[in-house]
Amino acid sequence: MASIQYVVILLLITFKSLSLSQSRLQISPETDHSLPFNPISINREIPKADASYCDSWRLSVETNNAGAWVQIPERCVDFVEEYMTGDKYSSDIEVASEFASEYAKTINVAGGGKDAWVFDIDETLLSNVPYYQVHGFGSEIFDENSFNEWVDLAEAPALQTSLRFYKELQQLGFKVFLLTGRSEFQRNATEKNLLHVGYRNWERLFLRGPDDMGKKASVYKSEKRKELEDEGYTIHGSSGDQWSDLLGFAVAKRSLKLPNPMYYIA
Ligand SMILES: [Mg+2]
Repeated sequence: MASIQYVVILLLITFKSLSLSQSRLQISPETDHSLPFNPISINREIPKADASYCDSWRLSVETNNAGAWVQIPERCVDFVEEYMTGDKYSSDIEVASEFASEYAKTINVAGGGKDAWVFDIDETLLSNVPYYQVHGFGSEIFDENSFNEWVDLAEAPALQTSLRFYKELQQLGFKVFLLTGRSEFQRNATEKNLLHVGYRNWERLFLRGPDDMGKKASVYKSEKRKELEDEGYTIHGSSGDQWSDLLGFAVAKRSLKLPNPMYYIA
């Protein structure tokens, strides 16, 4: 009897460990580009008052209650680092993707090839956490030149949950469009990066061309969605980490906001 109890307890422990490991979303791609996360952050104690405030601050920026914001509050830098490199960020994306997936499966894809889903790229399909890790997780003023150098490396890992959802949409018959604030001159590096981590067969990749420079992201992205609508596509869903990926005109029937407490794009 005692040995049976022992086996049951062992099974329960094994099951628990498996559930925990499976609930942790992998940011690293199918290749072995694991992120060089800073182990120091794991042991850093965030004062309780700061943790509480920063959690509320994060909720306000995610819901857009905060409106436009420029930098992470100084007291929240450690909090954002812990969020982005720990389990919570992965879990938040995973839950959002589950809702998106449930919704996508309810759509009767017509078969005419005009059922579309639009994805943003940065912090939606690809993770720039390795870049922001050495740039203060958004606490530093954005440096376009150094970010462009990072983009040129084409080494951003996939957000693994997004990659799974991307593939699922294609299996369901959706046409996938990529709509990014990156510029045309970054097309090669962007395509190389996407392909390297497993994204395939997108219908079209929109980048900012000469006519799009200086436009607010919400306007530029709305215009591109409008082009798709004018071509007869129905945009059933749109996924992005910024409200400017999702709002404006020609909005998707359903918009999925992914978390990003590191930066805000109008
Ligand atoms: Mg983005």
